[in-house]
Amino acid sequence: MLKPGTRRSADPWVGYKIHLSESCDDPEASRRPHLITHVVTTDATVNDAMVVEEVHDRLTSKNLLPSEHLLDAGYTSAELLLTAPTLRGVSVVGPVRSNNTRKAVRGDGFGKSAFTIDWQAQQAICPTGAKSRYWTTGVDDNGRDAIRIRFATATCAPCPVRDHCTRSTQYGRQLTVCPQEQDAVRERVRAEQSTDEWKDRYAARAGVEGTIHQAIAAAGARRTRYVGLAKTHLAHIFTAAAINLIRLDAWWNDTPLARTRTTRLATLDLAA
Ligand code: SF4
Repeated sequence: MLKPGTRRSADPWVGYKIHLSESCDDPEASRRPHLITHVVTTDATVNDAMVVEEVHDRLTSKNLLPSEHLLDAGYTSAELLLTAPTLRGVSVVGPVRSNNTRKAVRGDGFGKSAFTIDWQAQQAICPTGAKSRYWTTGVDDNGRDAIRIRFATATCAPCPVRDHCTRSTQYGRQLTVCPQEQDAVRERVRAEQSTDEWKDRYAARAGVEGTIHQAIAAAGARRTRYVGLAKTHLAHIFTAAAINLIRLDAWWNDTPLARTRTTRLATLDLAA
């Protein structure tokens, strides 16, 4: 891919992203190899979460939609976790992003969990018992439904614990939350994803990292040979087809799957 800038720099990205879907059933139990089932190519700037609907549509049309879909954090959204099981019959398993508030990052301050949301009254109640004044529904930077809650400047200005709550010296504390049902499912998954049971269930997703490595090592997918989305996508389809042929050849010739490499540091840690 061509990337003159980084996603966080002021330079625009020029290039494309490949989004791969693959089967990850236990090969012994299913008696099937892991094969790439779908390829999406987008401009590099497209948010990963924006392609999931298309992936589900295309897998459905190919009769390959799985009952359980393991996704990495970039593709997972509260909306998807909520709607995929009911609309698609797909159980989405993926981590929701960690809480990046000052409370979560530095361990001090009032994170979102310190506030009580009164959904009926459309108000938030802060740790000191003050109530928010503004409740605005809209969309976030990724176009998803979001609610912005703000406390009045006059409420927060004299607050004795203001330094623990907001860095703004001009405005009251602001919170952004998902709609109620999405907020509930996000909090549920956030709690589940630290459990061993959830980690075991999600572990199979790591295999796609090997697929990406294979696409780069075997087909040079790191750098597109073509200019233009259509040509690059065609190249990505050929890459996926080549990987599937390599895997079928290995499967038919009983070549075992490569084992996950253990770093020297991890080896030392295991030996200790
Ligand atoms: S700064 Fe405002 S929102 Fe935060 S605790 Fe004080 S009164 Fe409540």
